[in-house]
Amino acid sequence: MPDKPSSHFASFAIALPLYRVFDYAIEPIDSVGTGEISNSSSGGDATHVGKRFLLPFGSGKKTGLFLNSIDDSSVSREKTKQVLECLDDTPVLSEHMMALARWMASYYLQPLGEVIFQCLPTHLRSGKSEKPDRVKFWHAQTIDANLYDDIRRRSPKQFEILLAIEQSTSGLNAAQLKSVNSGWVNLIKALELKQVIRWDYSTPESSGATLEPPLQSSADQLQVLAQLKTRLDVFSVHLLDGITGSGKTEVYFHLIQWQLAQRKQIIYLVPEIGLTSQLVERVRRRFGEQFATSHSGLTNRQRYLAWHKFRAGDVNIMLGTRSSLFSQSDRLGLIIIDEEHDSSYKQVDGIRYHARDVAIKRAQMLDIPIVLGTATPSLESLHNCDREHYFYYQLSQRPTWHAPPKIELVDTSNVTLVSGCSPYLLKKIDWHLERKGQVLLFLNRRGFAPVVMCHECEWQANCNHCDSKLTLHHRINTLLCHHCGHRQTMPLTCPKCQHADIKHYGIGTEQLEQGIKWRYPDTPIIRIDRDTIASREEFAKRLAQIQSGEPCIIIGTQMIAKGHDYPAITLSAMLDADQALFSASYRASEQLVQMVFQVSGRSGRGEVKGEALLQTAYTEHSMMQSLVTQNYRDIALNLLQGRKMIGFPPYARVVMFRADAMTLSEAMEKLAEIKQVLQTSVQLKHLNCIGPIPALMTRRIGRYRAQLCLFSQDTVKLRAALRETMPTLQSVKNTSTVKWVIDVDSFDI
Ligand code: ADP
Ligand code: ZN
Ligand code: ZN
Repeated sequence: MPDKPSSHFASFAIALPLYRVFDYAIEPIDSVGTGEISNSSSGGDATHVGKRFLLPFGSGKKTGLFLNSIDDSSVSREKTKQVLECLDDTPVLSEHMMALARWMASYYLQPLGEVIFQCLPTHLRSGKSEKPDRVKFWHAQTIDANLYDDIRRRSPKQFEILLAIEQSTSGLNAAQLKSVNSGWVNLIKALELKQVIRWDYSTPESSGATLEPPLQSSADQLQVLAQLKTRLDVFSVHLLDGITGSGKTEVYFHLIQWQLAQRKQIIYLVPEIGLTSQLVERVRRRFGEQFATSHSGLTNRQRYLAWHKFRAGDVNIMLGTRSSLFSQSDRLGLIIIDEEHDSSYKQVDGIRYHARDVAIKRAQMLDIPIVLGTATPSLESLHNCDREHYFYYQLSQRPTWHAPPKIELVDTSNVTLVSGCSPYLLKKIDWHLERKGQVLLFLNRRGFAPVVMCHECEWQANCNHCDSKLTLHHRINTLLCHHCGHRQTMPLTCPKCQHADIKHYGIGTEQLEQGIKWRYPDTPIIRIDRDTIASREEFAKRLAQIQSGEPCIIIGTQMIAKGHDYPAITLSAMLDADQALFSASYRASEQLVQMVFQVSGRSGRGEVKGEALLQTAYTEHSMMQSLVTQNYRDIALNLLQGRKMIGFPPYARVVMFRADAMTLSEAMEKLAEIKQVLQTSVQLKHLNCIGPIPALMTRRIGRYRAQLCLFSQDTVKLRAALRETMPTLQSVKNTSTVKWVIDVDSFDI
């Protein structure tokens, strides 16, 4: 017999911002967890891969995830601590998910430990260990007539239970059985032995409800489905470019149905705001209770339960926001990303990743199709269609046959606005209300007024913690910073010169609502922004009011701009989009165009033709002109051409190093240190390295921020440079006062 090794070692991932893994000793058989550890180091402990362990760490404890066992000879036996406890009977992270996490860590240059734990529900990250209660339901099997008779005659109590189960439409659970007979446990056992009943975890609702049949597909939809059908079991990316209301969701539903029929599971991602009760209800009507939802409105435990249900196969559709992408499944057959252009798919703090791009990688690893849908495709996706990396489909008609309205510019340069509305717009509102239409006024600025200043001296209400102005919120008489949440009471006199003449400028949704209420006292006004919507329930309530179809005026920020289908809206008006024309961000034009087409697309989805207005003081601006003369795709292709000419993404890759500190100089110095490391790479001469420079909003939430941008059209060289320098970069430490991070595929340059 070979000698028993005294210990056995493994690497663990711990959620720390450190680019390293941690080695621990695992005791031999029996002492740890399930005791399945084998003595050989040749992978006998493979059963532990993906399980969480409680580990001693410093003077405390941390949860770590078992990555792989390591060669005993490579570890110092004396210095290596021993694991405390195994927290899971079965792995919480599948091998596929671990491979995806490794890819993310290497592509996004993020610490593996943090990425690994990002892939788990928050509830599990802390080391909590629990099995959610699942309710068993007993069902009757087909029963041989003789056996049936036998039970009836010889075991009346068993028969009573059996009868109750037979008569239920969807099985009985423990509580229900108990009410039939308090000695149910033994009776059930006996019936199970006779194989006349069986149990499963199915939810009771799933079998009873009648489901809505699919709609008869339009010619456009049929064409898309026909093409997609041939690629359902291979990796393929499909971009569904369909105007708002053209039936994209219907197409998703057909695909879901097909994959369900193949016993496959589906992940269906929507932007945070897109996950409305309207969509949930639609999914429920079509697929019954076969789905779970996951979003930020749920508690960690609820999200964990959704994750668990999907993993266990109790439900086959996961409908959720960004992080639902990490739902585990061993029979995933399709990923759908609705509103693929939406910037909420990019996580901008913690682990920086783009859910759409990670989803595509996941689909590739699993060799399954992924469908991206939107009315306003991102330039990246259009570019990928151009290069024939994605399949491209267009849905260009609404089932109601009304084209989305043409955008009409309203010149505001020489008119007096009443609460942000031009006389022309007000006339249009009157006209639509008279015809029982609903009106949508879109203003992407909440609060009463964005600028507050003294008329006498130079004083302006600025945030003490950020380089930003404070917004007046009139109803609560407060000046509020929209970046850090700082709030102070609106002063009666100027804090600087004590003059009483404090004025506010500009207009936000609160002021718009006030003005509109005054002008339309008898019309319901529904304002939807973060200040009026305290909860998802509240949001749902207001959306239901819109859904009812009664004439009303809806005032909203971007919360209302996407993902909703309200057939009664006949006029949508954007009050002010001009600041986007002068934004420093290279993505501003793309975002402006997407927003304009999304908002205008809210109108005219029902039986009545819609109108869309855009107020601007720059009607002659080429961007404004293109909005009225071209469709989204043509404008987007032009913008793409522009990006190509200046060599910006998607024709280049951007890697941003960001630092923040208590002083600007500390942040700049940290980045200078990073730049020095980068300069040791021979590849750097092929790359553009800009900075360090102060970030656009240098001070935010009390910290000074700087950035160093590395970008290049040559992705291969860029990645080579990073690979070369990463080992050294990883040793550039975060300190208690200066923090730095890497943002791959950053949205800024
Ligand atoms: P999108 O997702 O592109 O915005 P939806 O799938 O929500 O479009 O469809 C918009 C509206 O048109 C919905 O009310 C939907 O029920 C209806 N619709 C979609 N496809 C069809 C069809 N083939 N026949 C009839 N109505 C349809
Ligand atoms: Zn003053
Ligand atoms: Zn602030």
